[in-house]
Amino acid sequence: MALPVRLGGMGILSHQDIAPLALTAANETSDRLINSFLPLSPPVDASQQAQPRSQREGCKELWERQRNDLLSSLDDAERKIMTESASTLGRKWLNTIPYYSTLRLTDFEVSTAIHYRTLSTSPLTTCPWCSKSNSLGHDEVCLARPRQTVARHDSVARILHSTLKTIDPTAEHEPHSFEGRRRNDIRLRGSFKGSVDFDIKVYTLLGEKATKTTTKPADGVPLPRHIILQASKYLEQVERRAILAKPLTNGRFIPLVFSAGGMMSKTTGEELETWGEKLEATTFQRMKTLLSIAFLKARARSFEAGRSGGGRIGLEELTGVF
Ligand SMILES: [Zn+2]
Repeated sequence: MALPVRLGGMGILSHQDIAPLALTAANETSDRLINSFLPLSPPVDASQQAQPRSQREGCKELWERQRNDLLSSLDDAERKIMTESASTLGRKWLNTIPYYSTLRLTDFEVSTAIHYRTLSTSPLTTCPWCSKSNSLGHDEVCLARPRQTVARHDSVARILHSTLKTIDPTAEHEPHSFEGRRRNDIRLRGSFKGSVDFDIKVYTLLGEKATKTTTKPADGVPLPRHIILQASKYLEQVERRAILAKPLTNGRFIPLVFSAGGMMSKTTGEELETWGEKLEATTFQRMKTLLSIAFLKARARSFEAGRSGGGRIGLEELTGVF
């Protein structure tokens, strides 16, 4: 709860934790200032004095320690969900003002997002679809529920296509393949990237096939970094498989691989950065916002199915869950 949003928390900062750091920083800064002009003070070379530690530095150290302690106590699914919540696309929805309908979230979607961000499971201990334990993350991997895979993939593809269309009018959504069988998601033939086909993959990190994050970190690798690296390994496996199975194209082939909670593979992140250099800043930000919301909406649909067994419920019924 008290961790900042960019570290995967709720951003409801703790006054109890921060106030002593703020007071210390204020005291140290004012002592230094007063010492500099008191006539009785021995002259001190300012360059020889230790710089007072700012409140920002104190808080950074505190939050990183709290994050480490929390991550150490979490299981694999919880570590992955918290890391996804800290990612750019996993948190972007939180600072979005719903100026128009596509940016709006329902009460249930907000409730789902808070469940994930606070690592709270569905209130039903048993999955109404498969009778297995409704543990954290089960919503996303339950084989008996209506799958959100296609809807989630198509939402992401539409957002990326409409964004690319603003800088490359040749951008095609699901163009015909040369083999007449599997199609890539987006094709460009213009001057922005030359001849290139993009294939979009969105995979959950919570399934059995995903690499585990509970392994021991390599020497010198901090735990949060270790978890990102382990989670990314699976996305990179997906990427390699997509390249091996690529349909015939007469241009370059680039898979864009995301996790269901908004993480992306290293090369996908680098690829999107190149888009950012060409796009208007507002268009680029809008793309990230819409992606963040699309991932959240897909999660909410899975969560909703697990909560209600198919029927829609309101926020009121979830009151008291936390
Ligand atoms: Zn189930």
